[in-house]
Amino acid sequence: MKSDEIRSRFLKFFESKGHKIIPSSYLIPENDPSVLFTTAGMQQFKKYYLNPELAEKDFGSKNVVSAQKCVRTSDIDKVGDNTHLTFFEMLGNFSFGGYGRKEAIQYAYEFITKEMNLEISYVTVYEGSENVPKDEDSKKIWQELGLKDIREEGADVFWGPTGDSGPCGPTTEIYVDGIEIWNIVFNEYYKDKEGEYSLLENKGVDTGMGLERLAKVVQKVETVFETDLFSPLMLKLKADSSQLKARRIVADHIKSAIFLIADGIRPSNVDRGYVLRKLIRRAMVYVRKINLPDKTLINLVDIISEIYKGVYLLDGKNVDIKNTLITEVDKFKNTLEKGLKQFNKIVYESLNEKAHANKKISGKDAFLLFSSYGFPLEMTLELALEKGIEVDVKSFGEYFKKHQEESRKGAEHKFKGGLADHELKTIKLHTAHHLLLAALKLVLGPNIKQRGSNITAERLRIDFSFGRKLTDEEKKKVEDIVNQKIEEGLDVIKKEMPRAEALKIGAEMEFGAKYGDTVSVYFIKDREGNVFSCEFCGGPHITNTSELGHFKIQKEEAVASGVRRIKAILEIL
Ligand code: ATP
Ligand code: MG
Repeated sequence: MKSDEIRSRFLKFFESKGHKIIPSSYLIPENDPSVLFTTAGMQQFKKYYLNPELAEKDFGSKNVVSAQKCVRTSDIDKVGDNTHLTFFEMLGNFSFGGYGRKEAIQYAYEFITKEMNLEISYVTVYEGSENVPKDEDSKKIWQELGLKDIREEGADVFWGPTGDSGPCGPTTEIYVDGIEIWNIVFNEYYKDKEGEYSLLENKGVDTGMGLERLAKVVQKVETVFETDLFSPLMLKLKADSSQLKARRIVADHIKSAIFLIADGIRPSNVDRGYVLRKLIRRAMVYVRKINLPDKTLINLVDIISEIYKGVYLLDGKNVDIKNTLITEVDKFKNTLEKGLKQFNKIVYESLNEKAHANKKISGKDAFLLFSSYGFPLEMTLELALEKGIEVDVKSFGEYFKKHQEESRKGAEHKFKGGLADHELKTIKLHTAHHLLLAALKLVLGPNIKQRGSNITAERLRIDFSFGRKLTDEEKKKVEDIVNQKIEEGLDVIKKEMPRAEALKIGAEMEFGAKYGDTVSVYFIKDREGNVFSCEFCGGPHITNTSELGHFKIQKEEAVASGVRRIKAILEIL
């Protein structure tokens, strides 16, 4: 059975059991600054667990099903084994107070054994702790279904909470051919800050099954890389079997990179953009290892889009994706070659340095590779591992910290010493950017989310979630609102507050940023004192909107499916 069929059989199976099919959300989570990427199917549904009526309202059902694109950078070091990927799809059924254990386990059992015709090797259930009792109910349900091998386990089969407090609960996992394919979570406890557990009023079910792993067992192949979700890629990356791991890494990383680009992320030196950059750079290192040219990576784009044809809208954007990859590969090519030479020199020297009792790559050298040759520390570590040599990670960390402090001081100094003209322009555009986002929400609807942003002294650029081209009328309305706010001469006010409070008042988050416990929020209130704009932001901003000039949209275009881009300027009047 092809993976396309597995995916749609899963969705249809749960649809027939009263679940509403919900499309995958983006790889960039909305409304959740605590995570960089979507790592599980339940992420887009978090709020419904606390608020089931909202699910009825939004979906017409308390039960939903999805196939969710996920990226887990935490598994990057496992890529190359039989079952771990950085990009994968998670099939999941979810219930917000609609059903409980019995149905959840019965559905899973029916799907695996009847629909997929597989044999379950064993399942796990929670053995209990001093706070939460053993999951006898799940055990009994499995027994009634005829399961013989039911294993009791500890912390591994208890999910959450994601922070120090929040919803959590026992899970039951399904193993086929000895690998974990499906995890079913019973979201039924709440752990508070004091560590006390209480039963939730609205119990929830949250399940996740890796499509690639399911395809592996259905298609009866050795690893996820031999399923139809990877085999055309592996064919293109032909090499002898000694380089199997390198081939798998290339295939995995390029697939992740392409999906990230398709969702609007571009390589950069921070946050999501940096993860993307790292994936592409690692793919380049490994494609060289299997003696294939860099352009192989670009050639994989069409193959990947063919694999996911009709499921994810990669097609039609291939040119854009390829151009992004080509630019990034070109950028890194020379540096990579120079860096590899430098690396070999460093290794040679440290191996031959008699004075070095400890044959290690020093922190200073590792930092040089990082700062001058763009080698992420992990890459240096990996290359060093192959040479059987260690890296002084601690000392690298010290260099890194020092470097960060210096650049922070540099930035502070810049603002203290008065602003250069181009900096003032950038700051004005930054404030205009806040006004624009608020205006877009007014005109296009409150669900508009910022997807990316970039500001130079010449213009601002904002990427935001929206499914179609804006009409001329809408653009005009947005411009008018921003200009009106400029004319009203509103104060831009900065407030420090706990992150939780800022989230509660609905402050917009800046794209890709990570936040500490205390955050600064910039408010722009209208003349009546109503909040017009309120965003998490490090600033700086001008103090009053009257200083901005005249706001004008220059361009509105698509950048990815469901993501639009606006470029706008401020004209000095
Ligand atoms: P493992 O212990 O194998 O890493 P996990 O406990 O991290 O799995 P969950 O977080 O429970 O997995 O995710 C639910 C399901 O998603 C898993 O049962 C598996 O099928 C799939 N899955 C999780 N991580 C990956 C990955 N890195 N690559 C492919 N599939 C994955
Ligand atoms: Mg894992």
